[in-house]
Amino acid sequence: MQAPLSKHRILVVEDEPSVRWTFALIFQRHGIETDVAESGREAIALLSRETYCCVLLDLNIPPPDGIELAKFIYENSPETPIVVVSGYPDLAARLKKADLGSVVKLILDKPVDTTYLARHVHADHFCIGESPPPPGTPPQSSAQI
Ligand SMILES: [Zn+2]
Repeated sequence: MQAPLSKHRILVVEDEPSVRWTFALIFQRHGIETDVAESGREAIALLSRETYCCVLLDLNIPPPDGIELAKFIYENSPETPIVVVSGYPDLAARLKKADLGSVVKLILDKPVDTTYLARHVHADHFCIGESPPPPGTPPQSSAQI
């Protein structure tokens, strides 16, 4: 049996409003609760009182930035998977250097394919918090169907 969907919740951390709401809508369409934060500070406040299946994280956000936030998650709730979204390859490189172990599950370049997000991060019957996606699997050959 699947756990009730209401137990599944995603945090979207993204400073660009249109992108933030696009991401939130993808998950809400699948019945997954979604919280949004536009800065590292807001995200930390939410992370202190909620448990999330996954944090979808833009690196280039008002402080603390995405890399600092990833460190915070790594130190305070290492069981929470992070999916990084970045338009800046140098930030993604800095993140890899930060050595955050296994908390960073995926690093996606912008623009992000929303179908890919739904299938590999969270959909009705798939939760990245419960089963990591196979690395590099293209959306078309997803084993979810
Ligand atoms: Zn979930």
